[in-house]
Amino acid sequence: MRKGLSLYIHIPFCNSKCNYCSFTSFVSNDEIKDRYVSALKKEIAIRGKELSAQYEVTTIYIGGGTPSSLPGGLIKSIMQEVYKHFVVINNAEITIEVNPNTLTKEKVSEYMFAGINRVSMGLQCASKTILEKMGRTHTLDDFLKSVQMLREQGLNNISADVILGYPEETLTDVKLTIELLLKLGIPHISTYMLSVEEGTPLSVKLNHKTTQLPEEETVVSMYNYCVDRLTKAGFERYEVSNFAKPGFRSKHNEVYWKRYNYLGLGLAAHSFLKHQRFSNTKDLPAYITYIESNGDVPVVEAKKLTKEEEKEEWIMLMLRRSDGLDVDAYKKEFGENLFVKKKNQLAMLIKNGLIIINTQTNHIIATNKGFLVLNKIIETLV
Ligand code: SF4
Repeated sequence: MRKGLSLYIHIPFCNSKCNYCSFTSFVSNDEIKDRYVSALKKEIAIRGKELSAQYEVTTIYIGGGTPSSLPGGLIKSIMQEVYKHFVVINNAEITIEVNPNTLTKEKVSEYMFAGINRVSMGLQCASKTILEKMGRTHTLDDFLKSVQMLREQGLNNISADVILGYPEETLTDVKLTIELLLKLGIPHISTYMLSVEEGTPLSVKLNHKTTQLPEEETVVSMYNYCVDRLTKAGFERYEVSNFAKPGFRSKHNEVYWKRYNYLGLGLAAHSFLKHQRFSNTKDLPAYITYIESNGDVPVVEAKKLTKEEEKEEWIMLMLRRSDGLDVDAYKKEFGENLFVKKKNQLAMLIKNGLIIINTQTNHIIATNKGFLVLNKIIETLV
């Protein structure tokens, strides 16, 4: 019997760069995009040959960059290559990331024809001023039109991303954004606290003090507002940043958090397979030419995790989930009882109101207060 495998497919192109972005993505012409897609299809064929006898694909995530910035037809051709070289299960969750001003009716039909059944869209904020400050090139109206376009063709499994804590973003901006998404009936919402990455235009501005981040208290109140409002509206916070209506959790995200096997395809894509982590080169010309001339995948980093690293990862990823850390499963995996080994640390975290223990299921679960200082809890337990 084949084991489950998830695929992440990276499309490293955007129509412009956002001011806070440090992802591997470039503004490129159609010729480069074509060459990249050809190389990516070769990688899919190579990996399919290696893995399809042992694995079947349960989820696929086409991320970026902005996959919807590819010219029409290319996403379909990538997916055709996947179906040709891998066994994909019938009800596989297949997500594509899109940006609101890159979607057309033709692209939506193409994606649906290619089996895509979930769309993750970057709204980030409903305020025109903040979108401009972020360097986003779409408007709120583009987002509304895209949602309508998807629904007209029957694609209702939509997720929206929201950024919390951008310079000059206020609690009112966040409230208006969340209310808008609720009114639209979007069933999955991801709220990410801004992380400032070195070398981005935003970090330069912050270093020059020409802009400043909101107070930490404000960001905490933004996050708490999202938790309260979305929970009241019937969403479940199933991970620190992710909220879903029943039946709309992202299966692909859960693969990362539960440390199941996933294979990254494309530029800078990361994989976790057979207890090993590896990643492809981040250099776009090198990725294309290496595959074109060697017929092999340009893996630049490969690492077999030590038991200690595996334990750390396990604790870190499981505590991000609202289901928490399954102490029995941890014992089965590593032969250690955390209740015994970390008795004093757990007692201290409980006393500080950061975690609770579900004694019926033997899970360690972060509280609302705990989710805000998750890194501290993780440090204490590893
Ligand atoms: S759309 Fe996403 S990947 Fe592209 S520049 Fe903006 S944040 Fe980065």
